[in-house]
Amino acid sequence: MRELKDSYDIVVVGAGPGGSCSAYEAALNGAKTLLVEKSQEIGEPVRCAEAIPGLEDFNIKPSDEFVRSKVKGGYIFTPSGKRIKVSSDKATGYVVERKIFDKYLAIRAAKAGSKIMVKSTVVGLERDGDEWVVEIEYLGEIYKVRSKIVIAADGVESNIAEYAGLKAKKNPLEVCSCAEFEMVNVKLIDSEMLEFYFGNEIAKGGYAWIFPKGDCANVGLGVRDRKKKAINYLYDFLENELVKDRLKDATPIELKVGGAPVSGPIEKTYTDGLLVVGDAAGQISPLTGGGIYLAMDCGLMAGRVASEAIKNNDWSEDFLKKYEEMWKKKHFNMLMDHLKYRKILEKLNDEEIEELADVLGDSLEDIDLKKFAKKIIKRPSLLKYFKEIVF
Ligand SMILES: Cc1cc2nc3c(=O)[nH]c(=O)nc-3n(C[C@H](O)[C@H](O)[C@H](O)COP(=O)(O)OP(=O)(O)OC[C@H]3O[C@@H](n4cnc5c(N)ncnc54)[C@H](O)[C@@H]3O)c2cc1C
Repeated sequence: MRELKDSYDIVVVGAGPGGSCSAYEAALNGAKTLLVEKSQEIGEPVRCAEAIPGLEDFNIKPSDEFVRSKVKGGYIFTPSGKRIKVSSDKATGYVVERKIFDKYLAIRAAKAGSKIMVKSTVVGLERDGDEWVVEIEYLGEIYKVRSKIVIAADGVESNIAEYAGLKAKKNPLEVCSCAEFEMVNVKLIDSEMLEFYFGNEIAKGGYAWIFPKGDCANVGLGVRDRKKKAINYLYDFLENELVKDRLKDATPIELKVGGAPVSGPIEKTYTDGLLVVGDAAGQISPLTGGGIYLAMDCGLMAGRVASEAIKNNDWSEDFLKKYEEMWKKKHFNMLMDHLKYRKILEKLNDEEIEELADVLGDSLEDIDLKKFAKKIIKRPSLLKYFKEIVF
């Protein structure tokens, strides 16, 4: 295998947004970096509704190459069809073609100097002195490489962090099961607005969405329900009164299924010679299931700290904990707030969802907790759920 040398400073496992951004930053800072991806093609299979805020935050030009739609906000729908318009700055962004976008991020990493292996699965990790021996399976053969640092960016089914002794297994009940059709001939309300549908019949423990995507739209949902499969919820959603007229001519060109880990961050995202990034670390909003931005941002931080560790000749957990301090400072409170909101939302029955929509009104910018508290206080049936966040 041409890409394979005997040793690297940093091996990154998984070429999703988290892994490619880690490898980019590490290579840019001079570390000898290898990015290993088990799929034969980076970006495939897609398991995503492909909406991302703030590409500009990463100095990425929203190129036509991968941007399919620009987003200026969203509509939230209750089961009866009440509509709330969301139009804060945080709700703007893009719907991208992940197959191209993920490849674009990997190309950026390669141009910065990272080597990449595809169709290569990391199947084992062993400590040898203060380095790792990383076992990689490629076309039926096992190859062993040494690495000072491993970055585990191996997504929701992550096991790399566990190999290193961290508690990172996701409880299946805390993983949102998702099913989505990419469809043609969807009649959108507005080609720059995301649509979100809530209700226990529509998507128990989650929500359904219709996201514009150029000539197509991503129509999908995520649920947490052991009794009914996500795909069956999706078939029902296509026939739901709220959307069926707009979807009656729609036909799929792709089916995507996957899981979003919505239990919040894992306990610890670093140990001697290892960092955990993205879905593998639970760096994904427990409320929205949005994780691309976080995986990219935390990936850059991991790449930076790992490459600094190499320069300092110290990749002990004492040095690497800087990574956790950095990402927690920026994202931890938001993740924990979203976890709280998700836990409240999933307790509400459909009537309570309608009542909450009344409280919120028909337009929502950033939620002002003080104003919200004043209104919710007058709704005893809802107050019991929201006590913790308004007092
Ligand atoms: C249906 C669905 C819809 C979603 N919609 C959105 C959305 O609209 N917006 C948003 O922001 N987020 C969305 N998400 C979440 C988003 O897809 C993830 O948060 C994001 O992809 C996380 O990036 P990552 O790099 O951590 O992991 P991933 O993108 O999952 O990448 C992990 C990579 O690691 C590879 N890998 C795994 N194990 C190994 C191994 N042992 N060896 C080598 N390679 C390995 C995998 O093949 C994969 O390529 C959605 C998720 C689902 C399931």
